[in-house]
Amino acid sequence: PAARRDFTGTDPRMVLKEVYGYDAFRGDQAAVVEHVIAGGDAVVLMPTGAGKSVTYQVPALVRPGTGLVISPLIALMHDQVDALVANGVRAAYLNSTQSPPERSATERAYLAGEIDLLYVAPERLSHAATTALLQRGRLSVIAVDEAHCVSQWGHDFRPDYLALGDLAERFPGVPRLALTATATRETHRELTERLRLPDARHFVASFDRPNIQYRIEPKVEPRKQLVSFIRAQPEGSAGIVYALSRKTVEQTAEYLRAQRIDALPYHAGLPAEMRAAHQARFLRDDGVVMVATIAFGMGIDKPDVRFVAHIDLPKSVEGYYQETGRAGRDGEPSIAWMAYGLGDVVQQRRLIDASPGDRVFKTRLGQHLDAMLALCETVGCRRQNLLAYFGQPSDPCGNCDTCLEPPETWEGTVAAQKLLSTIVRLQRERNQSFGAGQLIDILRGNSTERVRQQRHDQLATFGIGADLSEQDWRSVIRQLLARGILVARGEYGTLALGEAAPDVLRGDSAVPLRRDVLGRSGGGGRVRK
Ligand code: ADP
Ligand code: ZN
Repeated sequence: PAARRDFTGTDPRMVLKEVYGYDAFRGDQAAVVEHVIAGGDAVVLMPTGAGKSVTYQVPALVRPGTGLVISPLIALMHDQVDALVANGVRAAYLNSTQSPPERSATERAYLAGEIDLLYVAPERLSHAATTALLQRGRLSVIAVDEAHCVSQWGHDFRPDYLALGDLAERFPGVPRLALTATATRETHRELTERLRLPDARHFVASFDRPNIQYRIEPKVEPRKQLVSFIRAQPEGSAGIVYALSRKTVEQTAEYLRAQRIDALPYHAGLPAEMRAAHQARFLRDDGVVMVATIAFGMGIDKPDVRFVAHIDLPKSVEGYYQETGRAGRDGEPSIAWMAYGLGDVVQQRRLIDASPGDRVFKTRLGQHLDAMLALCETVGCRRQNLLAYFGQPSDPCGNCDTCLEPPETWEGTVAAQKLLSTIVRLQRERNQSFGAGQLIDILRGNSTERVRQQRHDQLATFGIGADLSEQDWRSVIRQLLARGILVARGEYGTLALGEAAPDVLRGDSAVPLRRDVLGRSGGGGRVRK
């Protein structure tokens, strides 16, 4: 290893060159570094691979004292610290895997001012002793990595993050950074509030990954579809195949191997040695296909992953973005491919219903799922839809399946009008609003108990949508939600007219809807005309 150096007061560009070997900062890196070195707080929203580490590590090295890095993944912590030490940085960690002598050696080094970067897991910080220790030394910056974990509604909530709200009181005057690659408007607002960063400067990078081509197709024969997708890739392409369950992971890896594809399974239930061996082969050899649960990938630094395939629907757009983002970190053309089916939706709705959370929580999960499905069912550009989800407007990209091969559509204006006028009537005549289920029962003319109780069979729109199946209607609703023609409100997810609804009701804007959506012609294959 290189000699350990003290970089206090060094020019940030020199540090970048000496520690990391890079000639220049990228994107917002220089601006963040400068702002934090000057003592400012920062919220940094950058996609995976953009280079968030540099934005807190460089200020930590340049400012006097130790940079505290709060990171949720102990496994990653080891790798990060090892890599830093190998580059001559005085880095260390404190966590539960250490022996008492190791821990006290680190503590002594910290107090002696001999550590520039100290990694801790969030749960460590809930121990009063840790705070007391840190207060006896000198901190230069505090970085909260994976800051979206503080969001109770996000896909990756960690209760220990909630306690990070009072870091400013515990360590007054120490600049703080919150960093994440998950950046819906809502997560952004929530983490700023919960981590109490009202005066922070916000650095929001583009979430576009132009070298990734997005492709989403309905599941018909998933394994065969997967094999032909993989076979269509250049020889020797490394890839990751994500599945939700361990069983599917194992079965799929086995199936691919039987097809003479160099596939390996990876999930948290496999023995540690096997996981390590598979990961090592994936990193080292060309053309290995890792079939994995989402346990695989966080912190895996393999720039030339040529494809990421999903054979099960991710639970949220954030998850999808994060996972597909592991493709093409080297900037070379890569593909994010997915097959999704009605079974995925049914299974996930069941999991949501069975989950232990309260209604608000379940409604939120349902909305995550709907947003994911809206991405699957869009007739527009996938990338545009994806970026819009992260609050970033864009033009159609020309590098996704819907841009390259525009999907077959049907004119959904009349269906949309039927639905919207039912919502309007319920509102005007009864002062009522309902969620998708009841509206679909009304449109399809289902005489359920609730319909009879509410006398919804008396409405003029009762039964006017019997020409579409329940699944069709669900898809119509998702597509209208995705376009702002409908909005879902409150803990019950009741539907109301969105900003774009008046034009549709007047017939001023067309509503092309996708044909090959779930539930049509037996599970989402081709549709007979
Ligand atoms: P993130 O945490 O945002 O996912 P990392 O900090 O792990 O990203 O950086 C992603 C990759 O980009 C790493 O391989 C890193 O070495 C590289 N990188 C970061 N900053 C620069 C830079 N200024 N110039 C060149 N490469 C960089
Ligand atoms: Zn596109």
